[in-house]
Amino acid sequence: MPGSVITVRRDQAETLLARIYLWEIVKGCVITARHFWRNLIGYMIGRRRTFVVNWPEEKVGYSPAFRGMPVLVQMENGAERCVACGLCEKACPTDCITIFPEEVGDGIQRRPKVFDIAIDRCMFCGLCEEACPEEAIVMSRRVEVASITKEGCLWHKEDLLTPASELPIRLGHIRNGYDRSPN
Ligand code: SF4
Ligand code: SF4
Repeated sequence: MPGSVITVRRDQAETLLARIYLWEIVKGCVITARHFWRNLIGYMIGRRRTFVVNWPEEKVGYSPAFRGMPVLVQMENGAERCVACGLCEKACPTDCITIFPEEVGDGIQRRPKVFDIAIDRCMFCGLCEEACPEEAIVMSRRVEVASITKEGCLWHKEDLLTPASELPIRLGHIRNGYDRSPN
């Protein structure tokens, strides 16, 4: 079952009550207790029996807000949407994005010649997605990205390119969340 989504109002000033933290701690305890009693009573009356998901054989339905690894959006013509502006590279708190741009066509347009993400350093925070003005890098639903070598953790542009048609949930979510209209 996907979890519910809470929209965080970043422009809203914190109230005095929130800044004291005590009320937030009480709220956290109430939520924890609510889940505990709901699960316990649900189990006792036979309405809740499954508490374990046998991943990877079984999967849960992730919420639209779920953030897997970042990927590059590929347009219908096979090209990347990215214009190599470097904003995501700048926004990344772990410095795991490396971009080398190149000019295309008449030299007015740019694209990344190199676009690498060191996925072992990525913390799936989504700041690159938020910084991107082109909707060119988005958080996919892919999380099974382990590797036993350092080189295997370096994802290149060719590995990261994902058709936009495979990303409808996340693209829809960020368009709503960031108040963006489709290109
Ligand atoms: S998700 Fe966060 S850590 Fe990962 S590449 Fe984007 S900004 Fe960097
Ligand atoms: S992914 Fe977006 S922010 Fe990053 S370089 Fe490309 S266009 Fe700029």
